[in-house]
Amino acid sequence: MKYREIKRCGIKVSEIALGCEGFIGKSKREYAEMVDRAFRMGINFIDMYTPNPEFRDNFGAAIKGRRDKIVLQGHICSCWENGEYLRSRDLDKTKAAFEDQLKRLGVDYLDIGMIHYVDGEEDFKEVFEGDIIKYCQELKKQGKIKGIGVSSHNPTVAIKAVKTGLIDVLMFSVNAAYDMQPPTENVDDLFEPENYKGSFLNADPQRTRLYELCEREGVAIDVMKAFGGGDMLSEKYSPFGVAFNEYQCIEYCLTRPGVVSVMAGCKTVEEMEKAVSYYGAAREERDYSSVLSGMKRFKFSGNCMYCGHCAPCTVGINIADVNKYLKLAIVQKEVPETVADHYRLLAAHGGDCIECGRCEKNCPFGVEIIKNMKKAEDIFGY
Ligand code: SF4
Ligand code: SF4
Repeated sequence: MKYREIKRCGIKVSEIALGCEGFIGKSKREYAEMVDRAFRMGINFIDMYTPNPEFRDNFGAAIKGRRDKIVLQGHICSCWENGEYLRSRDLDKTKAAFEDQLKRLGVDYLDIGMIHYVDGEEDFKEVFEGDIIKYCQELKKQGKIKGIGVSSHNPTVAIKAVKTGLIDVLMFSVNAAYDMQPPTENVDDLFEPENYKGSFLNADPQRTRLYELCEREGVAIDVMKAFGGGDMLSEKYSPFGVAFNEYQCIEYCLTRPGVVSVMAGCKTVEEMEKAVSYYGAAREERDYSSVLSGMKRFKFSGNCMYCGHCAPCTVGINIADVNKYLKLAIVQKEVPETVADHYRLLAAHGGDCIECGRCEKNCPFGVEIIKNMKKAEDIFGY
């Protein structure tokens, strides 16, 4: 297992993490089995969007005595009323749901308090100009949460949330198909086959901007819907008409700027093992560029997709990383210190390029790599 840092909170989380939906309806024994296996494989991070009391009780029992081994991301504004899930911005209901969460899980604090499902502009205003954000800040001050998050499917709203400077984590729906879609307040649009008709050129600019903004601001993205609810894995249902495999979906997410973890909604121990076997998969199995470069209606051209297909560079430059830091640097008037720092730490830099051209022959997306290496040298000074 590999770990990445939620920088603003100083918390290390596993790249492969768990969604909670796979636990619902299981016996206590099965909860314990899944949690034990997850720990043994190095998974230390879980998203708990559900307010379902059965989940909270059983999961709490399964992690008893091991609180320090797990990073808990609980949702704020996800309530339980009359035996059903309810998304609510009512402060009293929100407070009661949060306290219920701590009590049933048997913990004193959550690591991330994730403000649940903010997709609409009006909803954003209600949350950030009203009581909910103040409540989250209060919880953070009291140590009942270590960081504040927002979950969203809408890049326009997510950008606004990040720009408030108040959030530490963004839970966002990421996969190569959604990345082609323009922002929408209606999550169903992302699943609507109609919206994938016609031709598409490159990823939606708002989504690209969002990922870069998060990377620059140190806001950690944890990913939901990496497999598009399973559609991405099926030739029949994938909007591309081509199936990705699990490894390609995970690799795609983990190579987006800002991403720290992919929340895999595993239903069984076997599914968890499959997700974690990503680390043992051959490079060709994880390489999503082979899928993305072969399509007619969906074209990715001229922009680095961070796929790593051009590696190895003759002189050891990590080309995807140089391209990433270059992009993060050129959208600002001055190069942000953190970006300059990350660039400095690379083993080789743009200025080391000997223009052999090997990488450009291997790039399936027609990126002008040699030009980019030169640009990076000009901007960063080496
Ligand atoms: S330069 Fe091309 S091959 Fe290399 S990481 Fe970027 S898109 Fe992939
Ligand atoms: S052209 Fe430059 S970046 Fe590309 S493989 Fe050669 S040395 Fe590396």
